[in-house]
Formats: sequence, C-alpha cells, structure tokens
Amino acid sequence: MNYENLMRECFDLALKGRGKVLTNPMVGAIVFKNGKIIGRGYHRSFYQDHAEIDCFNNLEEAAEGGTLVVNLEPCSHFGKHPPCVDEVIRRKIKKVVISNLDTNPKVDGIKKLKDAGIEVITGVLENEGKKLNEKFFLNMKYKRPLLALKYAQSLDGKIATETFDSKWISNEESRAFVHKLRNDYDAILVGANTLASDNPRLTSRIDGGVNPYRIIVTNSLSLDPLSEVFLENSDNKTIIATNSTKDFDINAEIIRCKTKGGGVDLEDLLDKLYQRDIGSVLVEGGSVINNAFLRENLVDKIYQFIAPIIVSGLRSRSAFMGEGAKLISEAKKFRIDEIRRFGSDVMFEVNNVYRDC
Ligand SMILES: [Zn+2]
Repeated sequence: MNYENLMRECFDLALKGRGKVLTNPMVGAIVFKNGKIIGRGYHRSFYQDHAEIDCFNNLEEAAEGGTLVVNLEPCSHFGKHPPCVDEVIRRKIKKVVISNLDTNPKVDGIKKLKDAGIEVITGVLENEGKKLNEKFFLNMKYKRPLLALKYAQSLDGKIATETFDSKWISNEESRAFVHKLRNDYDAILVGANTLASDNPRLTSRIDGGVNPYRIIVTNSLSLDPLSEVFLENSDNKTIIATNSTKDFDINAEIIRCKTKGGGVDLEDLLDKLYQRDIGSVLVEGGSVINNAFLRENLVDKIYQFIAPIIVSGLRSRSAFMGEGAKLISEAKKFRIDEIRRFGSDVMFEVNNVYRDC
C-alpha cells in the first residue's frame, strides 16, 4: 500500500500546532483500519499530549489491528508524558508508518515497536517531513533555537535612508506575510537602535495568532520605558537581553548575558533562550544586530524582501553593517530555496548552506 496520501494528511494535521509547540516537533497522527481512517490527532501545544495519544483519544472504534501513520518516530522515553510506544503496543496496533526518525538520542521507539512484533515502515515522504520540522531537527542538532533574519530592502540593498526612515520599503502584501511569519516563530528580536527608531509593537496581528516573545538586545540602559513593547507587556513576554549588570526600571523580564566584543554574547543569549524552550527566533533588525549574528555564524535562514525602489546615499543603511569579508571567498554562503512575489515585491527565502540537517 502507498502511504503517501495518509502521510500528507498527517503533515496537515501537524501544521495545526504551528507556533504553539515551542521546541517540540509538529506531529500529526492517523489510525487507518479496514480501508478507512478511524482517528486523527496532532500535537496541539508544547504542554499537551503527543499526537499519537491525541489520536487515540479521538478514535471512532478500537485501534486493534489498525495501522498508525505518524510523521515522527513515536517516543520511547519518559519526558513530560509517558512513552507513546507503550500506548501503541497496548492498543494492539499492527503496523506503524513513519516519515522521520527522531534524532533525539533518548528516543528509540522503532526498536521497542519491532520487539513487540509490530511492523514498521520508515522514510515515507522523508524530505517533506524534514522540511516541515526543520526547526525541531536544527534544535536537536545544535541545541539552540533556529535563527532567521527578516528585512526589506531597496533594489540597491538599503533598509533605511540616511535619516533612518524605513517606513515603508515593502508593500502591504509583504507586511501581511510578515505577520504570518511572526506567528511561526517563538520569539522576535530587535536591537536597541531599531527599538528607538521604529518603536515596533512586535505582535502577530493575525486571527487566532499567538504573540511571540519580544526580545530587545542592548548593551546599555538607554531604553525608553514608554516604548510600545513595554507598554504592551500584558502577557509578560517582553524580554530585555543585556550584558549590563545595572538594574532596569522597565516593565520587562531581564536576561543577563555574557559579554563578547563589547556587546551581548549572542551565542550565550541563544543558549539561555533555548533553556526556556524557545525553539526559534526571528530577528527584525537592524544592520548592526544582523551583522553581529552573521559574524558569529548563527544565521540559519533569511527572509529578504526586495522592493523596486532605489534609495542611494552614502550614509543610508544596508542590511548588514560592521565588520565584513575581506575577500569574496570569505563571504558567508547561503542557498536560495524559495522565491515568492508579493505584488510588486519579491521575497527570497535563503538558508545557510552549513546548516543542513
Ligand atoms: Zn510521544
């Protein structure tokens, strides 16, 4: 039997957990028996049941003798929940069909299933499954959040004019897509300069969206306590990340980081965010913070919007400013994986060639 259509349905189910599973993978599960689907489930949020259990809780009839289709290897260890493989065995499932193996070293669900006499098929739509959970697989491999940059630039590569004006380079369609993007990321991060010049709210203004953590990186205390991100902090998700040891009288949580190169040690910051189960961070400017992440080899992905305007000017801002490569051979290398049009704008989604996992 060809399980690809059922696996695609698992992917669709998995995507319902988008933006809510933090460092967990997005997983969907289906039980198939006698030619029909008798149960569907998915991992709804970081704090809720795994997909297999959610699926078993929604069965129309007993799962005994059925096939479980699930996009990730069922877990075999005690985490926040008991192992899913035990429940798969208890329910007398006959066959388990999987897209991706779990790269978490604590998980060896397949061995446990086979030992219990269950047939296991793996690798169904494996590449699509990896793409779906790229964040999770990167988290597992590097033990830090996935880091993406987003910026809008002119044809001549400028993200702001000489007077720091940047509203708006991209069009409304592009900006609507950015609001969707924010819903996919666990945290949005800006530097203190962007906070001062743009005063962004950093919310996800889409229906049913979950607001991300809002992170302000600064090596000084000169933040305006009346900035929107501090005034909007009713959900307690605004964080100031700093290497300063002084106290702030601001409505936000403070994360103290190590110092590197006179500023916040960004690797240390990502470690600390990961410890808090933040699995992905979207950096929304500006030039200095973009360049700092790039120089530290921490940029996994870039969403680059290009608008058909030309700014020019010697002191206008480009997306990356600061120390750069001396030779082209030393330039950071990326791969363009997707090109999309938003009206008159174009967006490149590019991934770091060193981050394949
Ligand atoms: Zn599980």
